[in-house]
Amino acid sequence: MLVFHLFWVHKGRQHPRLSAAFFLALASLSIVVCITFAVQTYPGYRFDLRHISLIFSTLIGGPAAGGAVWALMNLYRFLVGGDGALPALFASSVSYLALLFMYKPFIQGQFRRKLLLCAIASALFPIGWAPFFLWNVPDPQDYFWHVSFYQFCSTAGTLLILYLIEILRSQVRLQEEFVNMEKFHLIGEMAASISHEVRNPLTSTRGFLQLLQTGQHSPEERSLYLDIAINGIDQANHVLTDYLTFAKPSIDKTQRLDVQAELFSVLSLITPLAHFSNIVVQYEPPGQPLYVLGEKQKFNQCILNILKNCIEAMPSGGTLTISASEQDDSVQLLIEDTGTGMSKEQLQRLGSPFYSTKEKGTGLGMMVVFSIVKAMSGNVKITSQQGDGSCFRLSFPRVH
Ligand code: ADP
Ligand code: MG
Repeated sequence: MLVFHLFWVHKGRQHPRLSAAFFLALASLSIVVCITFAVQTYPGYRFDLRHISLIFSTLIGGPAAGGAVWALMNLYRFLVGGDGALPALFASSVSYLALLFMYKPFIQGQFRRKLLLCAIASALFPIGWAPFFLWNVPDPQDYFWHVSFYQFCSTAGTLLILYLIEILRSQVRLQEEFVNMEKFHLIGEMAASISHEVRNPLTSTRGFLQLLQTGQHSPEERSLYLDIAINGIDQANHVLTDYLTFAKPSIDKTQRLDVQAELFSVLSLITPLAHFSNIVVQYEPPGQPLYVLGEKQKFNQCILNILKNCIEAMPSGGTLTISASEQDDSVQLLIEDTGTGMSKEQLQRLGSPFYSTKEKGTGLGMMVVFSIVKAMSGNVKITSQQGDGSCFRLSFPRVH
């Protein structure tokens, strides 16, 4: 369960069927390992924590996953053999039926309710098998503490795992929220600079239309003025389209991304912001098309966050250099500014949530960058000199 939540759900939205298969495989594996390495206190009876897997498969994976795990668990238990197999079948069936009723309240509930349901589920299990067991052993009193202690371990184990799963899940949620927060922050700031960028062409369009309205013009002049006016509107339209592409929520899917095209669209978005602070943007496109695997919106967000930081580091102008190239089997992106730079301590803290030296900073931008780059199996190397500027080297596996 923990492996699933740590390494699988975490990585983003995998294919649902693949996820279900992986979930089942892990749950089955844990059950087989549990039963194989069970403690045998009394011949034929095996003590282990397999029902924890049944509990979470059903409550988290759903009735179907739980049913599959229930079937596998009993099949394997019968193969192993011994007197305990029948009581185990009975106990797991009672548990499974009860879990079916708990499933809905569980997924809709708060943490406290989940805790309660898990405690009940783990307490239900021994009701199925303990009476058989105590009935069959010659001296039930001798085994009473044994059974009680076993039950204590199993309830504690269930609650502990629930707790860990909840922590992992909330972490995934938080990370998604961070990405969104930073995005909305950006949208707000960019709206200001973009409206400026839209107003410029509109103003010139208006001017030329006015000119047409007033004077006597030759057909050539008229056609020239009209062309300029139409160009202005196209330009404004272009800026708005780009902005909306970024702002609208999207269903992300991993796809092959053309680095050059993505860089171009991000740059057209960021250029107004750069011009606002007298920054010269230099872009060296790669000599040939380069492709990486990733989610379009996230990749753009990642580059945008870095570029925005660079721009903010050069309040009184400077040069922003961006280049893309291929190296062996990777795609290298180089983003350089001539801004304030960072000290060693600042560099070390870069990427930790809420670390910001700006009055209105969120301190989330670089964290989002690191997490996106990691999700794309890439890496970031940052060098910086205080007073001279910073350099961000991103590298991603190249695909063809
Ligand atoms: P925010 O931009 O909201 O402050 P970030 O996570 O994007 O949050 O950046 C964290 C901090 O890292 C910034 O406040 C800034 O001090 C520093 N930083 C990031 N990029 C640069 C850069 N290119 N030049 C100088 N400092 C930077
Ligand atoms: Mg930032």
